[in-house]
Amino acid sequence: MGNIIFVLGFVVGSVLGSFVKAIADRSLGKKSFWGRSYCPKCRHKLAWYDLFPVVSYIYLRGKCRYCHKKIGIEYLVVEVMMGILVGFLFWQSFKNFQFSDFSFQSIFNFQFSVTLLDLLLKIFFITTLAVLFLTDLKKMFIPDRVVLPAIWIGLIFLSLITLYKIGYLYYYLSQSPVGRLLLPLHSEYFQRHAIILAQPLFYGILMGFLIGGFFLSLIIVTSGKGMGGGDVKLGAFMGLVLGFPQAIFAVVLSFLIGAIFAVALIISGKKHFGQTIPFGPFLVLGSLIMLFWGNQIVDWYLHIGI
Ligand SMILES: [Zn+2]
Repeated sequence: MGNIIFVLGFVVGSVLGSFVKAIADRSLGKKSFWGRSYCPKCRHKLAWYDLFPVVSYIYLRGKCRYCHKKIGIEYLVVEVMMGILVGFLFWQSFKNFQFSDFSFQSIFNFQFSVTLLDLLLKIFFITTLAVLFLTDLKKMFIPDRVVLPAIWIGLIFLSLITLYKIGYLYYYLSQSPVGRLLLPLHSEYFQRHAIILAQPLFYGILMGFLIGGFFLSLIIVTSGKGMGGGDVKLGAFMGLVLGFPQAIFAVVLSFLIGAIFAVALIISGKKHFGQTIPFGPFLVLGSLIMLFWGNQIVDWYLHIGI
């Protein structure tokens, strides 16, 4: 079962991968996000059968069907990487799910629908991070027209998930005589638990401001060396979605990976001290690590008790 779930996720991820590549290219080229895909060399519009991720690239041997010029390997790499990330995410989300007693009814099962909403938010998170990874890596550019809508969509998404959970709690309690005694006017139970359910949203917003603000203060202190306004917005986005304490761990991890990478570049002579490298890709790596293994890392950290 696990393999089928991974393959399903891989297909979804690779489709998103070609979307990621298109949005990243169009952001860097300051082009409209709308309109059909076209060959970057001859600008010929692509047909639906040219758009199968991975498969089309391999079938056409990395060449355009119309002008036969080589299409960069980057298209394939982005599609495969996104496939692996989303495939792994699917596997992680559903590996403990019992599909044997699955029916159409169970889509309306509370636990399953929460897992599904959570999965959608994570897919959105990975997709956005992948676009920003590419644009920052290539041109040290984090486009506002990607990161700003992403913050708003993330906020709306988190709010809807929170409302859904609280709404379900209310509905569930109102179904039984005992439950009705736990509702407002009789008891504080519902309010207390609603606040607990709203915590990821509150902590997300708090983390968004905290990490965005932290990066902003770094820019002010270092007078803009090493970090830019794009990192502030990316920091706010990852703070919002990862929440507390995962977002803080993600930032620490980003600095660690970035430092190791910078030292490696200096030792190998590819860069010299003081030269800037984009920080966004490291924020993306730190965020992905925390998205996939956040709970284990936090548990491990609490156990070693520093
Ligand atoms: Zn072409």
